[in-house]
Amino acid sequence: MEKLEVVVMAGTAALTGIIAYYWRKEAQFLQQIKDAPHLNLDPNLKALVSEAPDSTIPYAVIEGSVEAIGKPLKSEHATGILGVLQSLICREHKTYWSGSTRLWHDTTRLIRNISRSVPFVIKDNNTAVRVDDPLSASGLDVPIIYDSFEPSSTSLGEHLVSWASGEKTKGFQTVERMLSEGTVLTGIGMLSTSTGSLVLSPPTSANRPYILSDSGFSGIIRDFQSKLNQLKYFLYISGSITALLVALWLFKQYRKYAERREHEMQVERVLQNRVDDGAEGTNIDRAAGGQDNACTICLTNPRDVVLLDCGHISTCARCTRMLQPPHCPICRQRIKRVVPLFHS
Ligand SMILES: [Zn+2]
Ligand SMILES: [Zn+2]
Repeated sequence: MEKLEVVVMAGTAALTGIIAYYWRKEAQFLQQIKDAPHLNLDPNLKALVSEAPDSTIPYAVIEGSVEAIGKPLKSEHATGILGVLQSLICREHKTYWSGSTRLWHDTTRLIRNISRSVPFVIKDNNTAVRVDDPLSASGLDVPIIYDSFEPSSTSLGEHLVSWASGEKTKGFQTVERMLSEGTVLTGIGMLSTSTGSLVLSPPTSANRPYILSDSGFSGIIRDFQSKLNQLKYFLYISGSITALLVALWLFKQYRKYAERREHEMQVERVLQNRVDDGAEGTNIDRAAGGQDNACTICLTNPRDVVLLDCGHISTCARCTRMLQPPHCPICRQRIKRVVPLFHS
């Protein structure tokens, strides 16, 4: 029981530490983003970057519209839409009979999952910046341009077959996502001209996130802020639980200590009274009288105290003082009081 408490306490403390770590990291990210210079896409930009040390600006914010460098990708389902990042997902929706629950259950099976991309630039005022490794960037939620569910039509015959086999197809769902040409993107990353043209790529520093987003700079800040608030909330909860558990544990430890101390003092008082009365010596002498009356712990001194509340008379006062935690050696009940026993 004791061990479990310590494990739970260590667990919540560790969780609090992990949340605090992520909170700090996200807060650092937000600060870096806020501090990054906003650079306009215009003909002066290339010269500006070229003149920087290593022809590199380590972290900057740019904004412009998406354009494929070569041939753009064509949408399969939405006619006329051209883009640079595309994903196609097709799922079969099925329902099957479960023998154990005696119910029909819905399930899905992934049939097709394709992702494609072509090189592209962010462009404004005839100035283009190539976007390197866009899939490693965070913040980009590629919009859904097509989502359709086609129910499978079944004849009566097929219906009977599926009913008998315990499995039937309800239909197929196709979802297409596409980052279309012309979308205004905000890019935050490292700007360089090392290859001769302007390139936006993942920053080399680990505490600077690579971001591409279609919700604008203020949208990016807002997303970070809400993530931070959420982490802060979890941090409060986890921290309070840890503090509460530690407080409870300390309180329990204190109570245990107080209990032991109280027991020791009681026995001490019994022994002290006996010395004052000059009775201790006679008690020990009597022990020789009968083995039946000997303390069950030292097997030498006579049993001379009553343990309450259980009422067992099985020990001498000296051994009783040594019982820690204070439990009766016969019935294991907690000793609340130790009363001296007088033969007369
Ligand atoms: Zn004893
Ligand atoms: Zn007892």
